[in-house]
Amino acid sequence: MSSDSRTLDSLFSESDAPAAVIADVLIPLALDIAYSYKVPPGLVVEPGDVVHVPLAARETIGVVWETRKGASASNLKAVMSKADATPLSSTLREFVDWVARYTLAPRGLVLRMALRAPEIERNERIAMGVRLVGAPPARLTPARQRVLEILSDGLLRAKRDLCDEAGVSAAVIDGLIDEGTLIPEPMPQAPIAPLPDPDFTTTIFSEAQSKAVGELLNSIRQEQSSTTLLEGVTGSGKTEVYFEAVAETLRKGRQSLILMPEIALTGQFLDRFEKRFGVRPAEWHSGVSGRRREKIFSALASGEAKVIAGARSALFLPYADLGLIIVDEEHETAYKQEDGVHYHARDMAVVRGRLENAPVILASATPSIESRVNAKAGRYTHVKLPERHGGRAMPDIATIDLRVDPPGKGRFLSPRLISEIRETITRGEQTLLYLNRRGYAPLTLCRHCGHRFQCPNCTTWLVEHRFRRALMCHHCGHVERRPETCPSCSAEDSLAACGPGVERLQEEVAEQFPDARALVLSSDMPGGIERLRREIEAVAAGDFNIVIGTQLVAKGHHFPYLSLVGVVDADLGLTSGDPRAAERTFQMLGQVTGRAGRGHTAGRALLQSYDPDHPVIRALVSGDAERFYREETAQREAASMPPFGRLAALIISANDRQPAESYARALARAAEPPPGVMVLGPAEAPIAVIRGRHRFRILVKTDRAVPIQTYLREWLARAPKATGNVRVGIDIDPQSFY
Ligand code: ADP
Ligand code: ZN
Repeated sequence: MSSDSRTLDSLFSESDAPAAVIADVLIPLALDIAYSYKVPPGLVVEPGDVVHVPLAARETIGVVWETRKGASASNLKAVMSKADATPLSSTLREFVDWVARYTLAPRGLVLRMALRAPEIERNERIAMGVRLVGAPPARLTPARQRVLEILSDGLLRAKRDLCDEAGVSAAVIDGLIDEGTLIPEPMPQAPIAPLPDPDFTTTIFSEAQSKAVGELLNSIRQEQSSTTLLEGVTGSGKTEVYFEAVAETLRKGRQSLILMPEIALTGQFLDRFEKRFGVRPAEWHSGVSGRRREKIFSALASGEAKVIAGARSALFLPYADLGLIIVDEEHETAYKQEDGVHYHARDMAVVRGRLENAPVILASATPSIESRVNAKAGRYTHVKLPERHGGRAMPDIATIDLRVDPPGKGRFLSPRLISEIRETITRGEQTLLYLNRRGYAPLTLCRHCGHRFQCPNCTTWLVEHRFRRALMCHHCGHVERRPETCPSCSAEDSLAACGPGVERLQEEVAEQFPDARALVLSSDMPGGIERLRREIEAVAAGDFNIVIGTQLVAKGHHFPYLSLVGVVDADLGLTSGDPRAAERTFQMLGQVTGRAGRGHTAGRALLQSYDPDHPVIRALVSGDAERFYREETAQREAASMPPFGRLAALIISANDRQPAESYARALARAAEPPPGVMVLGPAEAPIAVIRGRHRFRILVKTDRAVPIQTYLREWLARAPKATGNVRVGIDIDPQSFY
């Protein structure tokens, strides 16, 4: 624009019109800056408003981040209209900015997480039901007959359920509607936010529990942000105790968020909540339908919904008055989002709590080293429940040395574990066999030529799933049929399964205990979340003798009949390249063994290991968690690993190996690390190809005092820009290293 026209512009705005209002609008795409739009006369927008704006040739929605007066707005496009959506509060906008600054993700992508709910699936249909009203039709087929019989009680039934129950297609029901025999009616929706009653029941607490409750209530009454680590052994009553914090927050009329790592599987939790508060909390996770999400979204924004139990994404919801955040099983890796915005929900919960002036409670039997160190340093209040509730003993944990007591050839259960399982069945109690490997076998090879089945998109072995008669990649989802002959040498019947998965274990269990009722609990079985919830309930009711499960079974379930836990491969995970391998294994096995003996019988756990003297195994057997934490923390400190130092990972990927590698090298050359910063790599990633993308990693390690984000931002700004299909992913505080 020439200087002349600028003068004209300013003359114009000074004389005729008042200064234009300019809105800086953040758009939920991978953009870091807010774009400026002029606000047309007659439209009033405030920061936080959701608006429609033009972007390139399209129309999109965005959120007004700021408004200001500007003299010259004539070259700006105009805001089109306000959207019919809940505005974002200033705290939520601050939170979005904070998360973006911390994770180095574009602000627009973070905003997207806070906006995702309202716009989705607006046209989703309401579930319809039918009811019998009219006379039977002239033509009565057996299918119609079945439908009419089921509906003869005059009750309303969901169309889909009716089809299943009567074994008919929807056309049969539509035909009956057309003939006036049935009428359609919308199914009543479960209420979104019935009010939980803090005084619905009263829990009688033990002395230790009362003390813990007192400390939590104290933090709530102070009405300022604070973080408390609630550390209590499995079965100590952490849930009962933090329910009191929820009750107190309800009494104040404020909202509570309970974050859970595996919300889809917490049917038991919802029941317990209902027992304590009279109603279920609202749920927020990927299994909740779009329409329901939309309602929850506005019920939270209006303050009507008081308690929500949700997965990590619930952290970005528009609370009207958030008064408490609980992070259950705070050590869980599921809290780290590994794609898009790489954020850790536990850490960001602490941030949101601070912005909202809401206390945060982190609960775990096996806290992360990070939270432990924060508690020891006095940054968090440390509340402990050292004993199981009701005088129940902690499970007795012992090892089975597989060098001395090995399983038979091609088998995975040692004779000693088998005889313990037998005794457990005889006593009418349950056994849990834990193996963190889905499918039948982690590797399939040809005995004749040695061919191994590898994923075509990833450098990973395909996992055999016998149940689905397929070979699958657990990284990209690739599925192929297991062939009859070797694709490489054409030998017949030459393919051998190597190593165990839960399905293979089930085979061995069926062989050893043909009369036992055994169940595999794994997230990839057909039937989805609903089936898993039902199965978990059945286990809790004592319906099975032997449960075989992956890590999913370890998470917080309460199985009163379970008295024996067998860890099939306690060494699995200890040898990975993950710097947190020891901590993770300790936490995982601590959780799994903690499932035993929560009812009326004493619990026992047996760890099968080739290395029973490993410090992690020894710590589990001795039950000396303090010592484990002390030693692990000392090692972290000596190596300046988190939380004593900071880590970030850069993942450079491209469709071909060469551009990924050369860009990774160019990036590393521009690193210029100042004192206190170490840049390691680039190195080819342990899984070198995922979904056809070749991957290199650079690890950045800094002293605690170094603001790692500032350093990274400056480095990336001076480094050459990535071209073509080369991408750089930034992962602050990485939790996975593949
Ligand atoms: P954690 O969360 O620490 O594993 P839970 O809160 O699940 O422990 O408690 C374990 C079991 O003990 C649950 O069945 C719970 O209902 C019961 N329980 C704990 N504390 C009490 C109490 N004060 N009164 C009655 N039952 C309790
Ligand atoms: Zn793959």
